[in-house]
Amino acid sequence: MLVLIGTSSTGKTRACWEAVQPLAGDGWRLWHPFDPTRADAALEDLERVRHRTVIWLSSSSEAVTLPRRRLPRVVPPFHDETVASFIRRVATTNHVSEKALRELLGVRMLKKTPITALIEPLSIVTGIAESVLCLALPEFGPGPVNDSPGRFGRPLAQNRRSQERPACRRCVRAAGIRGLVNRWVTHEQNVCLRHQLWIGEGCTEADDQIEISVLPSTSRAQRHHRNLIARHGRRWVRDAFSGARSAFIDLVEDHFADPFGIIAEAQLHLRDVEGRPAPPHTLLSMLFHPQIVTLTGILANAEWIRRAMESGHVGWLAREVTRRDILVGYWPKENDPLIQWVEAHLMHHWFAAAHGYKFNDVLFPEETVRRPRSPRGRARP
Ligand SMILES: [Zn+2]
Repeated sequence: MLVLIGTSSTGKTRACWEAVQPLAGDGWRLWHPFDPTRADAALEDLERVRHRTVIWLSSSSEAVTLPRRRLPRVVPPFHDETVASFIRRVATTNHVSEKALRELLGVRMLKKTPITALIEPLSIVTGIAESVLCLALPEFGPGPVNDSPGRFGRPLAQNRRSQERPACRRCVRAAGIRGLVNRWVTHEQNVCLRHQLWIGEGCTEADDQIEISVLPSTSRAQRHHRNLIARHGRRWVRDAFSGARSAFIDLVEDHFADPFGIIAEAQLHLRDVEGRPAPPHTLLSMLFHPQIVTLTGILANAEWIRRAMESGHVGWLAREVTRRDILVGYWPKENDPLIQWVEAHLMHHWFAAAHGYKFNDVLFPEETVRRPRSPRGRARP
């Protein structure tokens, strides 16, 4: 047996591959046991090994040290949970340290090791089928476009702009889970409608989630936000939402130190689990969620672009901002945050139009798995 050891990316596989090449001419067989699992495949076909066979156990650690047994306590994954969060819960529930569990899994996560290398050992250790893990944990899912059931509309963990947040602490409790669960979210998941809890901007821990039953319009805005996605398409709404939020909050902060004393008043009512008032920035996001979502609706709609192109100015957009009670008495100034966003957006728009549709993917990256195009749609120019 030949074992070649070295640090990552030093050409071990390449060296072996080149050493094996001349053997092919002499009738040697190269055998790479891989399926069903590396260890099982190697055992299953062992009797087929004759003279002149090279058994290729690339990443032999995976072939040799795959765990063989289940841990005693079953831990079901939470919907859209991150792999790190799931591994932490499996370890805690079974009273082993996270380090010990990772050693048991037997996969050394180097820089280039794909996270999917964990699917098989995790499935053995937890007793949960690989297909279930792949559906529940977005990091184990396939790339952006896929037609397998249960994928469409789910958060994309592969996207570098994807967000990770604590899951609604009441949903977690209702699922019978103690402790923290982190999950991948899409941009519109800001309120848990079932539990009237703010789970969006500003929540880095489950205890930061704030009860918003005193703000019914914020819950309504959450529904409105989902409807906007259905109407205008996710990528436009996502881009418009991040623009609308930062522009609106900047506008409010520029104009008033404390708009109408609202923040001081709201801090009395909106408190986290330990009774601390929400930080001002989170408070603004929660309080003005309805206005931000309404502004998102205008910005995601191509109508304002059409009007701006026709008239050469943003008068219509500014009038709509006042008419829909987003910011009463709004009058655009040259360097105000909303106008800056509008200018940047129009520049992107023209840039994308000049360079073909593919640039849309650069400017507005997807955040969920998209429905694959039909073959007929693909054939069209
Ligand atoms: Zn909930």
